[in-house]
Amino acid sequence: MANLNRFINKDKYLKFCELHKLEEFYAVVGSSFAALSLVEGLKSKNIIVFEKGGDFNPLLLRGLRIKNNGTFSLKENSIEESVGGASNTWTGRLSEMNHQEFCGKNKEASKIFYDLSTKYYKKSWEFFGFKNFIQVEKNVTDFKERVLPEQKKPLRAEKLLKKHNIQIVVESKITAVGEDKIGSFLLVEFSDTFKEKIYFKKIILANGGLHSSLLLKNSFEKGFLKSDKSKIISKNYMNHPKITFNNFFTSIPSFSPFVLRDKNDSNFYGYSLSDDLQKKYGLKNTYFTFHPISKDEHTKEFICAANIYFNKFNALKIFAKYLKDYGFNFFSILKIIFHIGCRVGLFKDKIKNYDLEYFCEMAPNAKNKIFVDRGSLNSEVNFSEKDYINLEILHQKLVSELSDNVADQYKTINFRDKFFQDSSHHIGGIPMSENLDDSVIDKNLRVVDSESIFLCSSSVFQYSGSSNPTLTIVALGLRLADHLKRIN
Ligand SMILES: Cc1cc2nc3c(=O)[nH]c(=O)nc-3n(C[C@H](O)[C@H](O)[C@H](O)COP(=O)(O)OP(=O)(O)OC[C@H]3O[C@@H](n4cnc5c(N)ncnc54)[C@H](O)[C@@H]3O)c2cc1C
Repeated sequence: MANLNRFINKDKYLKFCELHKLEEFYAVVGSSFAALSLVEGLKSKNIIVFEKGGDFNPLLLRGLRIKNNGTFSLKENSIEESVGGASNTWTGRLSEMNHQEFCGKNKEASKIFYDLSTKYYKKSWEFFGFKNFIQVEKNVTDFKERVLPEQKKPLRAEKLLKKHNIQIVVESKITAVGEDKIGSFLLVEFSDTFKEKIYFKKIILANGGLHSSLLLKNSFEKGFLKSDKSKIISKNYMNHPKITFNNFFTSIPSFSPFVLRDKNDSNFYGYSLSDDLQKKYGLKNTYFTFHPISKDEHTKEFICAANIYFNKFNALKIFAKYLKDYGFNFFSILKIIFHIGCRVGLFKDKIKNYDLEYFCEMAPNAKNKIFVDRGSLNSEVNFSEKDYINLEILHQKLVSELSDNVADQYKTINFRDKFFQDSSHHIGGIPMSENLDDSVIDKNLRVVDSESIFLCSSSVFQYSGSSNPTLTIVALGLRLADHLKRIN
């Protein structure tokens, strides 16, 4: 079991230091998936995890305040700053990135992808409890189909992290990372009360796609790291903008080349343009997926059944509240039982229509950035022309496949007028290149010019891909842990 520490005064911290030789420890900043994959991979008890937040409380989400200045805004709850990070609120849908999505033309990224595709994606699927999942990408007419499975019960990093024999320090905010003659250090602010400079054997920034690059940028600016790279950090910020169109069909097609899944199938089936078309138009892997809407979707019985299904331990309470609010009605109770039966796969729900959802791959754009201005976070993220063209071509192809069934208002869509949501996927900001002068990290995720400082988060992705990022983050964490064990 992990030791949970909270240092509210310096005496407590000094006593802790008497017991542990911290200069022999791996310091991991952050306590979510990246941290967990490192802890599981390193298999060492000399690990100390620093988490700036406290225990997770679902009623008190900390979120993220951000001022949006671009055409695409970032939402507040796309980050969670407490033990377990965004793993406390994530959905649990996983997918691998393909070669083109991860590497594009980047040769350094290609060296990493070789390891991911031959070894670490497999381990990462296992990490999430998928024993035999094989990533599928197959051609369907002018499209490429990819299956994105969902974890039935999304994994929470916090619980698993606490099972390891390591040290976790909550309410410990890392304000900078650096290196000097003595070694690699972190500047830590404990419980908003006192600050310490602490040296470690190795330091790994595993504090999320957004904060890891900002922390590094700040550390370069303050001169704690050699050869200032602050100017090239946090540019090329990316995300997976998404948009939904409700009730896509006027009549549901009797035949479709796409999987129009039923309510029992929790997998997503994503369709991007085929490789040939992507090549022909120079486009990305932006995809669409269909979401079934049940005939009874918004009825009180449907909502009650869903509530019971997702909160099994409170089933009786939820049911009692339903009876209190609506009284006893035999047919309503039957309906609730029917909808629960549909969820567990006993019955088949009647589908009324499908919503269509697009998930975009953003082309890297050096103008897109996240930055801190007078203490507050700002984003300047814009869609590029290519991002819009990708959506337009993909949409035209989709409509031409099912032209008799698509509702008139969706036959042509002006995406430039539309409001996109972010997918809580913070990607990019840390450049990697063969020329180490233009590179912040090397292929082992080590900060260039440092001895012992490493980065493990989606900020190191060179392209956004359209895949959900967490499987890749964990694969990178497991790979980095193996590397750290090798160099000891
Ligand atoms: C609602 C939601 C749904 C999602 N659904 C999916 C999905 O279906 N599939 C998918 O692949 N991804 C999904 N994601 C994204 C997924 O949660 C993230 O990719 C994943 O959590 C990233 O893990 P991480 O360890 O890199 O960082 P994070 O989860 O962001 O955790 C970083 C941690 O570091 C801490 N920290 C930050 N800065 C400091 C500092 N200076 N000092 C100390 N600690 C610090 C933070 O408090 C936080 O706890 C979703 C996210 C959200 C919010």
